[in-house]
Parts: sequence; structure tokens; C-alpha cells
Amino acid sequence: MAETRHTKVLIIGSGPAGYTAGVYASRAMLEPILVQGIEPGGQLTTTTEVENWPGDTEVQGPDLMVRMEAHAKAMGCEIIGDIITSLDTSARPFVAKGDSGTTYTADAVILATGARAKWLGMESEEKFKGFGVSACATCDGFFYRGQEIVVIGGGNTAVEEALFLTNFASKVTLIHRRDELRAEKILQDRLFKNEKIVPLWFHQLEEVYGTDSPLGVEGVKARNVQTGEITDIPCKGVFVAIGHAPANELVKDVLELHNGGYVSVKPGTTETSIPGIFAAGDLTDHKYRQAVTSAGMGCMAALDAERFLAEQE
Ligand code: FAD
Ligand code: NAP
Repeated sequence: MAETRHTKVLIIGSGPAGYTAGVYASRAMLEPILVQGIEPGGQLTTTTEVENWPGDTEVQGPDLMVRMEAHAKAMGCEIIGDIITSLDTSARPFVAKGDSGTTYTADAVILATGARAKWLGMESEEKFKGFGVSACATCDGFFYRGQEIVVIGGGNTAVEEALFLTNFASKVTLIHRRDELRAEKILQDRLFKNEKIVPLWFHQLEEVYGTDSPLGVEGVKARNVQTGEITDIPCKGVFVAIGHAPANELVKDVLELHNGGYVSVKPGTTETSIPGIFAAGDLTDHKYRQAVTSAGMGCMAALDAERFLAEQE
């Protein structure tokens, strides 16, 4: 028979926001349950060095997330490998259904579902996804030893992916739609010093092409956004790094949103438009989107949930 679990605080998501909420809610004796989702550890598990987590000059993203999980667990947070497929916020206790068949009922919910990679939405991108087109250099870079690769985007992720891919690739072309990068200056410096990376300014990806059997990428066509001219770039791998969109599927129809899908919270709090539902991390933040700010909001969400539950008693 399908199981039903009740908790005072259900934390959905296992990135820096979720695990920090887990630490604080546990220490408040709320006996939280944290459901990890499809990406245990969140976005930082898809990167290598993290150099701006206070206290660590350099730490590997996946290692940091293993430590955060262990910390939350040690404080008493119950961590469950499941995916929440629906959340009923119409009455309390709130009811969340897990992909495992488990139903979770909760007096308060902390949403920490973060963000997911954006795609360009092209047919040829879709066709070669997993067969030469990727959004995760740390996951797939290894397959391109000695090969030529393109990276699309101009933010921190694109520059970091390009730099990381030079560990494997013979050449990395960074295709960006402007001639100015959004990435931090320290990353830009590293990029411009790296002889394996060639920027292609004012270009947009037009098409990915390749073979059908076996399915594989042979190159891309890029369009100059100023002149319309098409450039052909032979390559075996295409890394799309054009940002992330908030993972709001569970609540997009019931909570107030801002800036194209981020969950709105009352200024200075993590309170959403439904009392008892709190949101933290990249799910609510279109501006900073950092591990440390997400962790900070996770802390706030647990404290807000604690206060909310105390007021109900
Ligand atoms: P996320 O890390 O996005 O985690 C979301 C969690 O929610 C995941 O565990 C997922 O499984 C879970 N989830 C989603 N849907 C469900 C569901 N339905 N049910 C259950 N669980 C669900 N920031 C820095 O400060 N420094 C860096 O060096 C840095 N490098 C980065 C490198 C890359 C390649 C990327 C992509 C991001 C980087 N960032 C960095 C940004 C940082 O990773 C994010 O700001 C941070 O991870 C956001 O944390 P979060 O807890 O809000 O969500
Ligand atoms: P981002 O900062 O939003 O940058 C996205 C990039 O992709 C921009 O350069 C943008 O171009 C480009 N782009 C967007 N849509 C496009 C499209 N349809 N076609 C072509 N190009 C497109 O996203 P991000 O780099 O993933 O970073 C997200 C957040 O995570 C940021 O807050 C970042 O600081 C953080 N992060 C931090 C680190 C770190 O601290 N080391 C590392 C990675 C990520 P325009 O510039 O023209 O808009």
C-alpha cells in the first residue's frame, strides 16, 4: 500500500537552499523531511571548482554538496530520494505526491527547487540532445578528448564551461550574440588568456548538423546577427550555456510569480502568496543566483517556517 508521511516542514529540493533549510529546521526541532528531486545536490553538482563559497578558497561543487547533505543529515533532517510530482496548496496540511508513490503531508512547505538549464528551442538542438548537444560540460566534456567543440552563451556558466572543456578539446569556439561578456572579470581574463578558446562575437546558433546513424554532431552553422552571414564551424560537441529558468512547475498556477516565472516573496522574507508556503534560492531570485545567497534564503525560509508554525499553535 502507498505510504503517507506527515511532517511539520517539507523541504522540496536539495541544492544549497534546501540543505541549509534542512540544517536550520532540524536545529529548530521541526523534524523536517527533505525530498531531493532528480538532481541530488542541485546545480553545483554540474560544475567543478567553486571559488566563492566563503571558507573555501576552492572546493569542488559536488564535494561541497555532499558535505551540505551530510551536515543536514547530522542535524536530524530526513533526506529522501524522491521527486515531488504535485503539490496541493489549497488547504493545510499541504499534500505533496512523490514519484515513488509516497504522499507527504506537511504543515509548512519550503520550496527550494532551484533552476534548470535553458535551451535554445531549435529542432536540430533537440534532435542531437544527448548525442553531441549538452548543457553540462562537467557531465559530458570527457567524451570530447582531442575534438573541436562550441559553447553558446556569454555568462559565467558559458565561460566556465569553455574553460573546463579546454581540458579535453583541441579547440573551443565560444559563440556569443554580443561582443561583451556578462561573465565576471576574473573569468573573462582566464578566457582571453586561453589559446584554445576562440570567441565568435555577434553570432547566434542557426543549426546543429550531423549524421543520422549513428546520431552524432558534425558541426554548426552560426548566423552573424548584424550581417546575416552564415559561418560553418565543424565540431563534435555543442554546449548550450545560455542561463537557467526557475523550476516552478509545482506552483506556477497557484503562487504569484515575477520576472518570467520566479516565485514572488514578500520583501525581506521567504513568504510566498500562500501562508505556510515558503520559497528560497534560485526559484525566487532572478538577480543574484549564487550558492551563498541561496543558502542564506534557505536559512531564512526555515526561520520563517518555524515562526509561522509557532503562530499556528
Ligand atoms: P539548485 O541548486 O538549482 O537545486 C534545486 C534542487 O531542487 C535540486 O536538488 C533538484 O533536484 C530539486 N528539485 C527540483 N524539482 C524538484 C521536485 N519536483 N521535487 C523534488 N526536488 C526537486 N554559484 C556560486 O555561488 N558559485 C559558483 O561557482 C557557481 N557555479 C555554477 C556553475 C554552474 C555550471 C551552474 C549551473 C551554476 C553555478 N552557480 C554557482 C549557481 C548555483 O549553483 C545556484 O545559485 C545554486 O545552486 C542555487 O541553489 P538552489 O538551492 O536554489 O537550487
Ligand atoms: P546568465 O548570467 O543569465 O547568462 C546567460 C548568457 O546566455 C548571456 O550571456 C546571454 O546573452 C546568453 N543568452 C541567453 N539567451 C540566449 C539565447 N536565446 N541565444 C543566445 N544567447 C543567449 O546565465 P548563467 O551564465 O547560467 O549564470 C546564471 C547565474 O549563475 C548567474 O547569476 C551567475 O552569476 C551564476 N553562476 C555563477 C558562477 C560563479 O560564480 N563562478 C558560475 C556559473 C553561474 P546576453 O549577455 O546577451 O544577455
